[in-house]
Amino acid sequence: MSDRAGPVPRRGEADAFWLRYTVELSGHCPPSRTAFSVGAVVVAADGTVLGQGYSRRDDPHDHAEEAALRGIRPEDPHLAGATIYSSLEPCSSRSSRPRACSTLILATPLPRVVFAWREPELFVDCEGAERLCAAGRTVIERPDLAGGVRAANAHLLGTG
Ligand SMILES: [Zn+2]
Repeated sequence: MSDRAGPVPRRGEADAFWLRYTVELSGHCPPSRTAFSVGAVVVAADGTVLGQGYSRRDDPHDHAEEAALRGIRPEDPHLAGATIYSSLEPCSSRSSRPRACSTLILATPLPRVVFAWREPELFVDCEGAERLCAAGRTVIERPDLAGGVRAANAHLLGTG
């Protein structure tokens, strides 16, 4: 577990704080003309950061959620009360890896998923939020915070 900590998820403006943090993380993504720049962080119930990541961190095919989950032991008891924040809706299918981020999340006990931007149908039709909801996870979308995510991906949207 890292020493980093911040506001306790679910309280007050904590979700907004952590989503803004994911947008900051996405600023570290190596540039790509063909893939989104995304940040993700897993925060325990007490506000401790369990893991964090961003797109293409360790490998050109890395997704942010995948990188964030990579350093967390699957049996870590903190996962059962934690929240995963992602600047973009977790993916439901991908060509480069066998398991989509929503599948990776469903392989953990993580009960709560918060994201800012629903994936535009640019590359694939994403059903990540629906899959996570259907599996009983709490999914919270904060479109009011999507502006920073869109700005980080302006080069893909033709607005950069
Ligand atoms: Zn993904």
